[in-house]
Amino acid sequence: MAPAQTTDRPEQHMPTAGPLLDTFGRIADDLRISVTDKCNFRCTYCMPAEGLAWLPRAEILTYEEIARLVGVFVRLGVREIKLTGGEPTVRRELPSLVAMIRRAQPDVAISMTTNGYLLDRLAEPLARAGLDRATVSCDSLMRHRFAEMTRRDALDKVMEGLRAAEAAGLTPIKLNCVVIAGTNEDEVVDFARFARDTGYEVRFIEYMPLDAEQKWERAKVVPSAEILAAIDAVYPLVPEDTGGAEPATSFRFADGAPGAIGVIASVTEPFCDTCNRLRITADGQLRACLFAMQEADLRTPLRSGASDAEIEAVIRAAVWAKWEGHKINHPDFERPSRSMSMIGG
Ligand code: SAM
Repeated sequence: MAPAQTTDRPEQHMPTAGPLLDTFGRIADDLRISVTDKCNFRCTYCMPAEGLAWLPRAEILTYEEIARLVGVFVRLGVREIKLTGGEPTVRRELPSLVAMIRRAQPDVAISMTTNGYLLDRLAEPLARAGLDRATVSCDSLMRHRFAEMTRRDALDKVMEGLRAAEAAGLTPIKLNCVVIAGTNEDEVVDFARFARDTGYEVRFIEYMPLDAEQKWERAKVVPSAEILAAIDAVYPLVPEDTGGAEPATSFRFADGAPGAIGVIASVTEPFCDTCNRLRITADGQLRACLFAMQEADLRTPLRSGASDAEIEAVIRAAVWAKWEGHKINHPDFERPSRSMSMIGG
């Protein structure tokens, strides 16, 4: 049986004004928007080699629909928009979406999570359109291993993309690295050195049960505490106060070297009690948790003439119903039916 997602707190207390509050007192002000479910990589821990059955084009939100939703969410207190996917850069004319959002929302922070493959030509137009920052995923600094993990021989191009992002001012640059036991955990110190050399924040993400092929096993999760200990033994680390809302716990180097280290310990040290995130899938479904079993349909109201106030009511109810936290470490954990690339990581 799926873990319950609603609480016994009475519906009538749901706020009709003010920020997006849930029954556990958390405020949702960070929105991840997936602009496509397609990807040009096939990371082994995410998607099968042959890809997935892509969503039909008509089901995907148009840029106008996304921009309208952003307006509604910003009025509800959202301050951070992250574009993701799939791979956001494979959607045509992505800079025009960024420009549309930026024109309407001059004060909102807009960032993007990308595999970096197309940043060599897109970083500059995206920055010009109003993108603030880029987070680039990279799981190995070794060409052969990168190719094995992503099923694309593309490390050089991703490095070029990182340089282009920096040159375009999409900074501070963050680099996301999923660590998998027996695959790339021997590289964590090399990544720390890379952070020091480049000034990037390298963030290590624990492997989560969100791979489409359902091959995840707990034994392949490398606890963030182990990653930090391995790095600290070579480059001593000092915790950094990031204000609590970030999923990553951040550290700087004790010797004052540039760069930073972050860990996202979703499995071994879940941070659900401070979660401020919401996600919209490429087909317009609102998810209050990465692992949610329920979604709120925003596309239907968008396409059937609903007013902003009606859409706002759907959003408020979905946030109010946000569960306390994911159940990865409970015996009754159930994987959501969508995998990471379908949700928007
Ligand atoms: N394509 C973009 C990218 O590579 O950043 C955005 C989407 S991707 C799904 C977002 C992030 O999710 C990437 O950093 C990816 O490595 C991570 N990811 C995918 N599957 C994962 C899993 N099973 N566990 C942990 N992280 C995962």
